[in-house]
Amino acid sequence: GDFPIETDTLVIGSGPGGYVAAIRAAQLGQKVTIVEREEIGGVCLNVGCIPSKALISVGHRFEQAKHSDDMGITANDVTLDFSKAQAFKESVVKKLTGGVEGLLKGNKVELVRGEAYFVDGNTVKVMDEKSSQTYTFKHAIIATGSRPVEIPSFKFSKRVLSSTGALNLQELPKKLVVIGGGYIGTELGTAYANLGSEVTIIEGADDILAGFEKQMTTIVKKGLKKKGVEVVVKASAKGVEETDSGVTVTYEAGGEEKKAEADYVLVTVGRRPNTDEMGLEELGLKMADRGLIDVNEQCRTSVDNIFAIGDVVSGPQLAHKASYEGKVAAEVIGGQTSIVDYMAIPAVCFTDPELATVGLSEEQAKKEGYEVAAGKFPFGANGRALALNATEGFVKLVSRKSDGLLLGAQIVGQGASDMIAELGLAIEAGMTVEDIAMTIHAHPTLGEIAMEAAEVVMGHPIHIL
Ligand code: FAD
Repeated sequence: GDFPIETDTLVIGSGPGGYVAAIRAAQLGQKVTIVEREEIGGVCLNVGCIPSKALISVGHRFEQAKHSDDMGITANDVTLDFSKAQAFKESVVKKLTGGVEGLLKGNKVELVRGEAYFVDGNTVKVMDEKSSQTYTFKHAIIATGSRPVEIPSFKFSKRVLSSTGALNLQELPKKLVVIGGGYIGTELGTAYANLGSEVTIIEGADDILAGFEKQMTTIVKKGLKKKGVEVVVKASAKGVEETDSGVTVTYEAGGEEKKAEADYVLVTVGRRPNTDEMGLEELGLKMADRGLIDVNEQCRTSVDNIFAIGDVVSGPQLAHKASYEGKVAAEVIGGQTSIVDYMAIPAVCFTDPELATVGLSEEQAKKEGYEVAAGKFPFGANGRALALNATEGFVKLVSRKSDGLLLGAQIVGQGASDMIAELGLAIEAGMTVEDIAMTIHAHPTLGEIAMEAAEVVMGHPIHIL
């Protein structure tokens, strides 16, 4: 028989939203159950952030090994064993997912395998192939994440790949076509180009990497060109013909129909929330656009005891945003008065070079009515960047003119993904460009570029004229 099991807080989905929420709720004294239908760690750990970054690292090493002539290194016969690269990626994923499982256990969170379906506002049924078990809860957190959008003319198959398929290829494509130049398509396209594939990116808009400023994407496009990646913008993908050994992609660009042959085509045209087929209609949960769940600033849905976080609610589909919301939701359930504050969510794109932003761009700040003082400092004028032979890029800071309050930062360049943390902290702490300029940064480091950009904003840089 199916005797209901009682729990305090039931979390559905064990991605970076769900597992963080579960641990935080347990820390606050809740009896927590987490339900997962696939792999612990969700998209991020298994088929997203982590495996993509592992392949990107392999690509960098390989690329650098082959092309360090400027520094006097000529390596002959640099080879890549792609199956070993895949095994490395798998080992990274396994370490992290195993780690998360251990953390859940250590925090006494009960992990249940199966698919959760809401019966009513206090009950879910969890089903696997063989059985079903009912759980009753006081609070629930929906953290079911998202999945790749599949377009009818590009049904996923052996050679028509989603990001998941592209991460799990068993052979290195000689030629890869990427449809959609968002950050996922551009990152994976860059990785495969570094690994040795010939890559074409087909994008519908007039630029790749929507959401990043033109002055940033220009530098990435220069890098792509250097790698031989073809970027076709204002193009629309029409369809694909698949044979045993490859694909022919038909697309329209510049008023002409064109064809591209490849071993594989990767389709990254967006992700949709996993909010269907889980009984949300029965709950009468208020939905927002495009299948997203409507929540307030405490991540609470229209049903009082049910919360939603991560890719199923609006905002950037990013792991750290999901985790942040997970902590807020768990704290609210634990009786605290937490609310979300999205002022300083960083966004990073792991291309060559990397892009990173936090807070407002100059244009956004002006639109919001600020009188702005902004300034840029180039990597090319920084000693460490020169020594690293990584001189492409800049740090730009955007501040409120009246008092120098930091409103936003944009970084293009090697290490941008790590450098953005300092500026996120500065925004979060309400610091001014003067605070950054007068913070002693170790020499010679890339971190100094932020300090120098702050001096540029203030009008007295030391190292540029
Ligand atoms: P998810 O990670 O999607 O987890 C949801 C979990 O819920 C899944 O495990 C799913 O199986 C489970 N689930 C769904 N429905 C049910 C159900 N009914 N019952 C039980 N379980 C269920 N973000 C970054 O911040 N940085 C990056 O570098 C980055 N790179 C990415 C690269 C790729 C290729 C992709 C695809 C994504 C990347 N992302 C990145 C985005 C990031 O992965 C997501 O934003 C993040 O995983 C969202 O977390 P989540 O907890 O909301 O959901």
